[in-house]
Amino acid sequence: MITAEKYIQSLRDMGPRRVYVMGQRIDNIVDHPMIRPSINCCAMTYKLAELPEYEDLMTVTSHLSGKKINRFTNPFQSQKQLVDKVKMQRLCGNMTGSCFQRCVGMDAMNAVYSTTFEIDAKHGTSYHKRFKDFISKWQENDWTVDGAMTDPKGDRSLPPSKQADPDMFVRVVERKADGIVVSGAKMHQTGVLNSHYILAMPTQNMSGESEKEYAVSFVVKADDPSLLFIYGRQASDTRKLEPGSHIDVGNVNYGGQEAIVIFENTFIPWEQVFMLGETDFTGMLVERFAGYHRQSYGGCKVGNGDVLIGASAALAEYNGAAKASHVKDKLIEMIHLNETLYSCGIACSAEGSATAAGNYTIDLMLANVCKQNITRLPYEIARLSQDIAGGLMVTLPGEADFKSPEIGPWCDRLMRGVASVPTENRQRMMRLVEAMTIGSIAVGYLTESMHGAGSPQAQRIMIQRAANMETKKKLARRLCGIDPDGLF
Ligand code: SF4
Ligand code: FE
Repeated sequence: MITAEKYIQSLRDMGPRRVYVMGQRIDNIVDHPMIRPSINCCAMTYKLAELPEYEDLMTVTSHLSGKKINRFTNPFQSQKQLVDKVKMQRLCGNMTGSCFQRCVGMDAMNAVYSTTFEIDAKHGTSYHKRFKDFISKWQENDWTVDGAMTDPKGDRSLPPSKQADPDMFVRVVERKADGIVVSGAKMHQTGVLNSHYILAMPTQNMSGESEKEYAVSFVVKADDPSLLFIYGRQASDTRKLEPGSHIDVGNVNYGGQEAIVIFENTFIPWEQVFMLGETDFTGMLVERFAGYHRQSYGGCKVGNGDVLIGASAALAEYNGAAKASHVKDKLIEMIHLNETLYSCGIACSAEGSATAAGNYTIDLMLANVCKQNITRLPYEIARLSQDIAGGLMVTLPGEADFKSPEIGPWCDRLMRGVASVPTENRQRMMRLVEAMTIGSIAVGYLTESMHGAGSPQAQRIMIQRAANMETKKKLARRLCGIDPDGLF
């Protein structure tokens, strides 16, 4: 395992990358004010693993090497390890108040691990051993790996091969003696600039000969010169660029990261290819990855929810409203909603089962119920938080006003709630709620809750599929006497 400091240094040591932020090519990713908070988040997954009090939660023994590894690099070996994953994510969500990015690679690892095993069993390929060899290096070096699934997809009514622009889906453009060449792009790549490798998977079920070149999974070093990165803008992100702006950012050290990664004829050697043309396994890979990531949200978003509930309770105190019964009741409701989400994350883990490859997967129905709830309940938690915080959260003067010798004293006097609480505490807490519910962190807490790991309709399709409606109808038929049971 490596330390958080060494992780950050390892990003500095990577080769030059073509990264664009707001139209400008940037050379120094690590110290860029819009990017650094996201690096701090990912670094937290290393830092917590260094601390003795979190060792049990953050580390595990590798089933491959027998060595202690970071849990983020582990193919789950039991239901308990699935449960512990969710607990670890809640902890990381508590410590960052943001998306900490490293889960996508962990979830992709587990999906590719079991799928490659089953591809080999059917097609006589040797992807699984290849992938295990890669995992051994992943664990040894304690890499962060970006799990890359979502393609641009263009016209949603057309399959990949019928798109007007062939780069709407990642595809193989050339097969060579020593590997393949791929082209296309992956969208919404959480933490991709903070990753050492990119693990690409197909974005949807593919079928037929015409889609074969789109059924491809591989890893590539994140500093491969063929890659081009375009950094996504987030609400209020330029507050991070304003000189002297610190409190106004809300979450002062941590934040999320989403970027587009473009593969401009990227060469992938054979040992880094884990699927090539097996369209019959694309659906399985997508479903498994989505299942794991829908479980993940029952941990990370709950951890963020804890922060928001704490901020709301603190603001109620600063405002002098903590004893009002409706405020108390709103806080209870927020806790109830947040713990409901956690229950879903724990339940789909505890009901997990072994795959043919030996690693464990979640209960698909419960993971989809988990994520469906995640598309709704954080919005209600955020609404209640804004209700308790008060409108000042969005009309508060800027940090520079508070520092101004002319108007600063007025700001300090007028923005004070309870006299014993410094105005700055109230200002900071308001900005945190603002950031989490409408600012840069709302991307991770709200919009990602909606669309990450698949938009709401994707879960409803899975819920319908997993529901076993015939069994339910049979239960009803028996009790109303259509199918008498003859038991009594
Ligand atoms: Fe991890 Fe949550 Fe971010 Fe996904 S959204 S990478 S599960 S913190
Ligand atoms: Fe996500």
